[in-house]
Amino acid sequence: MKSLDDKIREVATEFSLNETDIRNSATLVGLINSYNGAYVNDGSFNGGEYGNGVITMGGQDYLNIETLAHELGHATGSYQASYPDSYATARDYADARERGEGEAIAIELKVMQKIDSSYIQNYGFPVWKDNAKQSSEEFYTDRVIGILSTPISTLYE
Ligand SMILES: [Zn+2]
Repeated sequence: MKSLDDKIREVATEFSLNETDIRNSATLVGLINSYNGAYVNDGSFNGGEYGNGVITMGGQDYLNIETLAHELGHATGSYQASYPDSYATARDYADARERGEGEAIAIELKVMQKIDSSYIQNYGFPVWKDNAKQSSEEFYTDRVIGILSTPISTLYE
């Protein structure tokens, strides 16, 4: 079994991330510790994704800690959607996908607020309800705060 230090070193090396930055967020360290999947740096891919036990990241805009935190949220979160045929209706599936995305965004913000206090301003579109710029973001905010605020604050530092 890999030690936490080995896990942090592995992900930092794979994605060329700063180990000190990673260690600045207890939330991120906790996510890395609870994740047992693989990390793949794919130079032909411009984005981040999680699937089948693998977090894949690549491209100049996505090889960063916020993408890692977001994908770890998908990989380890409690509100991630299952397969489409697990739901009675398309609406139910869409709601489940939205909850999963809200959770990943909430975790990403929690990590980045710790690492970079100006991250929310730089992010461009706050997801918090009072600062919401678009109705779709307000919808996310309702999901994030209504469904996730208690579990997030309980489960992640
Ligand atoms: Zn996502």
